[in-house]
Amino acid sequence: MDFKDKVVVVTGAGRGIGRSIARMYARHGAKVVIADRNFQDAQETERLIKEEGGEAFAIFADVSRPEDVVTLMKKTEEIYGRLDILINNAGIGCWKSPYDLTVEEWDSVINTNLRGTFLCSREAAKIMRKNGGGSIVNIASTRAIMSEPDSESYAASKGGILALTHALAVSLGPDRIRVNAISPGWIETGDYEKLREIDHLQHPAGRVGKPEDIARACLFLTDDENGFITGANLVIDGGMTRKMIYEP
Ligand code: NDP
Repeated sequence: MDFKDKVVVVTGAGRGIGRSIARMYARHGAKVVIADRNFQDAQETERLIKEEGGEAFAIFADVSRPEDVVTLMKKTEEIYGRLDILINNAGIGCWKSPYDLTVEEWDSVINTNLRGTFLCSREAAKIMRKNGGGSIVNIASTRAIMSEPDSESYAASKGGILALTHALAVSLGPDRIRVNAISPGWIETGDYEKLREIDHLQHPAGRVGKPEDIARACLFLTDDENGFITGANLVIDGGMTRKMIYEP
């Protein structure tokens, strides 16, 4: 897959999965805009990419704030003259009983995960359609379709992202903009070596996921050769959501 001179915006790319996605695109020749509300972390991702000979630019943006998102996309167009790919990766969680969850906490998760995905997609699409098209990937979660207790705001935001994905795929199709989702399962962004055997073996795939598992899928979905894929949700969870869990 060749992404030479493609311009890619990755939100939440200061660390974790987003950093891995940004580095993967840069290794494949893309010019990467690293957007994060933690500017220091974003700059560190930029440094890592440049150290490997890649092209990157870090910018502060809180994706829940419309003015930040407008500035992010405007600067991207100013610097690189176009936008081909957007990865909506920035996201936060909140684990709290629904009896105690405050409206502020609910709004904070929904505004970052769901509103942020909408705002970035809207502003990016305005630039993409001028270039003759583009590709958007929204990072959802397997928690969009199944739950542990006390995850209401996160689950609702990720379920919303799946619905937003198919709605945008239909609306933006005529502008040759494809919109897909990825639903990761357990992706370890900390110390992979510290995981236990049981962590790995409970997965049908035999291991916990790594950020690169998601980054490779982003390349696949945004490759121009795969232009027939839009409105899809690619579940990447080592098989966990396909596993029956009735107690013996
Ligand atoms: P991390 O928390 O490691 O990194 C997320 C990054 O996004 C951080 O740099 C964070 O900044 C930034 N961020 C948070 N809110 C905003 C905002 N409003 N505007 C801009 N940047 C923001 O997350 P992961 O790498 O683990 O997850 C990435 C995505 O993948 C998320 O959408 C998550 O929900 C999803 N996901 C992750 C899974 C996993 O197992 N890791 C499983 C399923 C889905 P700060 O440091 O300030 O918080």
